[in-house]
Amino acid sequence: MLRLSNINTFYGPSQVLQDVSLEVNKGEIVCLLGANAAGKTTTMKTIFGLVRARSGSIIFNDRDITRKATDAIVSSGLALVPEGRRVFSRMTVLENLEMGAYTRKSKAEFKSDLEHVCEIFPRIKERLKQVAGTMSGGEQQMLAMARALLSRPSMVCMDEPSMGLSPLMVETVFETILRIREEGKTIFLVEQNASMALKLADRGYVLQTGKIVLSDTAKNLLTNDLVRQAYLGGA
Ligand code: ATP
Repeated sequence: MLRLSNINTFYGPSQVLQDVSLEVNKGEIVCLLGANAAGKTTTMKTIFGLVRARSGSIIFNDRDITRKATDAIVSSGLALVPEGRRVFSRMTVLENLEMGAYTRKSKAEFKSDLEHVCEIFPRIKERLKQVAGTMSGGEQQMLAMARALLSRPSMVCMDEPSMGLSPLMVETVFETILRIREEGKTIFLVEQNASMALKLADRGYVLQTGKIVLSDTAKNLLTNDLVRQAYLGGA
C-alpha cells in the first residue's frame, strides 16, 4: 500500500535519511522504532512532502507520490497525525475537526463522519465547543487522531502518539489505534515507546542514524537482542 524505496533526505548539507526502504501493506500496523534524532519524524515529513527526498521514490496505492503536494497526498487517502499533536490551539474542538474535513464539500457527509468519530472518541463529543488549547495532552492527542480520520483516509501515519502522556492515557491511545485498524485502516506508527508499539504492531523497522538496520515481525523484534538492549531498557 505504501512503499518507500531508497529514500535519501537532507537538511541543507546534512543527510538525515540514508537509503531508507520500507513498506506497509494493507490492513497492517507497522511501527518505525528509533532513538532521538534517528530520523523518524523526517521519514514522516518526507512521506507527506513536508521535506523533499533528494532521491528515491514513495509509492502509495500504486501511485507515485514522491513529488506530489501535501494536500494532494492527503486527498489521495493518506492522513498524518503529527508529532506534538499540532492542534489549532485557539480554535474550538469542532473547528479543528472541520479543518480535518477540508478536502470534502458535503455538509451531510461531514455530519455523519463527525458522529462516527464522536463514537470512537467519546471525550471529544463532550468537548466540541471547548477551545482546543485548554484540553489535556491526552485529549489533544485524541483530537489530532479524530481530525486525521475526518479526511477519510485509507491509511493513517502517526508520529509518536504516546509522547508526553500518562501511562493510562498511553493505554487509551493504543486501544484507539487498534479500534481504528478494526475499521479497516492501515497504520504506520513512529514510536519511541517500543514496548507498547511492538505489542500493537504486526511488523516493525528499526531506524538508527538515518538507516534501517532491522526489519522483522513485531513478535521477533520483541525478543531481538538489539531491540531489547537499545529500546526496551535491556528488559
Ligand atoms: P525525535 O524522536 O527526537 O523527534 P526523530 O527520530 O524524529 O527524533 P528527526 O526529527 O527526524 O528525528 O531528526 C533527525 C535529525 O535531523 C536530527 O539530527 C535533527 O537535528 C535533524 N533535523 C530535523 N529537522 C531539521 C531541520 N528542519 N533542519 C536541520 N536539521 C534538522
